[in-house]
Amino acid sequence: MSQSIVVVGSVNADLRVTVERHPRPGETLLGGDGTVTPGGKGANQALAAARAGGNVTMIGAVGHDPNAAAALDLLRGSGADLSGIAEVDGPTGVAVVMVAASGENEIVYIPGANATVGADAVASHAELLGQAAVVLCQGETPADGIARAQALAGGRLVLNPAPVIELPPEVITAADPLIVNEHEGALVARMLDPDADVAALEEDPGGCVGALRAAGCRSVVMTLGSAGALVAEGDDVTAIPAVRVDAVDTTGAGDAFAGALSARLAEGGTLLEACGYAARFAALTVTRTGAQASFPSAEEVAGLRG
Ligand code: ATP
Repeated sequence: MSQSIVVVGSVNADLRVTVERHPRPGETLLGGDGTVTPGGKGANQALAAARAGGNVTMIGAVGHDPNAAAALDLLRGSGADLSGIAEVDGPTGVAVVMVAASGENEIVYIPGANATVGADAVASHAELLGQAAVVLCQGETPADGIARAQALAGGRLVLNPAPVIELPPEVITAADPLIVNEHEGALVARMLDPDADVAALEEDPGGCVGALRAAGCRSVVMTLGSAGALVAEGDDVTAIPAVRVDAVDTTGAGDAFAGALSARLAEGGTLLEACGYAARFAALTVTRTGAQASFPSAEEVAGLRG
């Protein structure tokens, strides 16, 4: 088994504009900053895994348009193998993010090329998936593609169902680990058990992790922002504290965590070791603004105490 990580996921160009307040229907407002940055949970996690020293190949798609280059700007040159990213007709995935002075975001997401990363596209990389130590998926590409990736994965499936989409229970329970935050965890628990009380589970991370395990999940990592993470495997639930830092922007923290964790698992680390490393990687991420642009290098993580 190689030590490679294959990421099956989304690639987006994020257009971020700042406004005093959100426009009313029909209204035109003057905005402040307008920046196009690379994004998409798949690309974010692939970059984080590569920065953490992983041997990464990405399976995804971009369109034939200028946004494709913007979307891959940082991933190119990261060392990740992008030969599994198809160029298809239609637009590259775009997220238009309007950030108001109140801090409230309005987001319009156009999946574009990401919608083509379905079962057939994924199956065309069967050999790659069969040889990977870790296959890493999120929730921004079609469910049938994620299910096919799980079926073809020769190694460990790491699944971060964000956003939460309807997936076959056997795909969710096969994840090792399933990575969720408290909101995603409660929604996934209800997908596995229709009687689960989402509101109650959201308020009770330990109970939610227990419910996911009881529903058959192999292992679960629940990230809790500045409160760290809970890791459940075997009979144990272990708290991984967050590293204390001065946080300036938590955008991309979850993606940083999932990518760095996968890189360590692919190297043969235990789940607890991998989570400890991911917590340090994500802590450095929140000390800087942006998503991909905020990810640290492996050297910076090695230099961080905590
Ligand atoms: P997002 O969707 O915003 O990327 P998320 O909800 O998926 O986030 P979080 O739980 O917010 O993910 O963060 C992931 C991990 O990043 C946490 O488990 C923690 O280790 C680290 N982290 C997040 N916020 C902080 C913080 N303020 N200080 C230190 N570490 C943090």
